[in-house]
Amino acid sequence: MTGPDFQDPGEPYRRALGIDGTAADAQDHPHPFIAAHGGFCVVCGLSESYSEHHKPGVPTADEVRRRVDAGTSWDVWVEFNDVDAAGLTVTYADLVRPGHGPYGVGAAVVAGDGEGNRCPAVVVGADGGRLTLRLDLGRFEAAG
Ligand SMILES: [Zn+2]
Repeated sequence: MTGPDFQDPGEPYRRALGIDGTAADAQDHPHPFIAAHGGFCVVCGLSESYSEHHKPGVPTADEVRRRVDAGTSWDVWVEFNDVDAAGLTVTYADLVRPGHGPYGVGAAVVAGDGEGNRCPAVVVGADGGRLTLRLDLGRFEAAG
């Protein structure tokens, strides 16, 4: 894991909820608990018992997931700055979008990031929580 941006699969969820900022910022905004790998909330990083998860009037977790699915269409978060010339990059099972995967070697996926960049990829290595992807860089789609 390299930096906070790389570890931030919650960004599209916060955007879908209208929360401008980081997981820490989201801790002050009522939102549904959306479970990520490890049992913590993908939006704010806290456990389900945190009080902002239980405020009335927030959309359901399923509704937020549908909004994210409508606005993004990738399966696995990658850092496109860390892709080598052969199209290989390492990502983590924790960065598979909730409801997608698990993926093994040979799985075809769409790699993406919080900026709207996307690229088809194949899983070429799966070792515990570590996934190696080979991106089809000729089919990279930049945001916008
Ligand atoms: Zn939360």
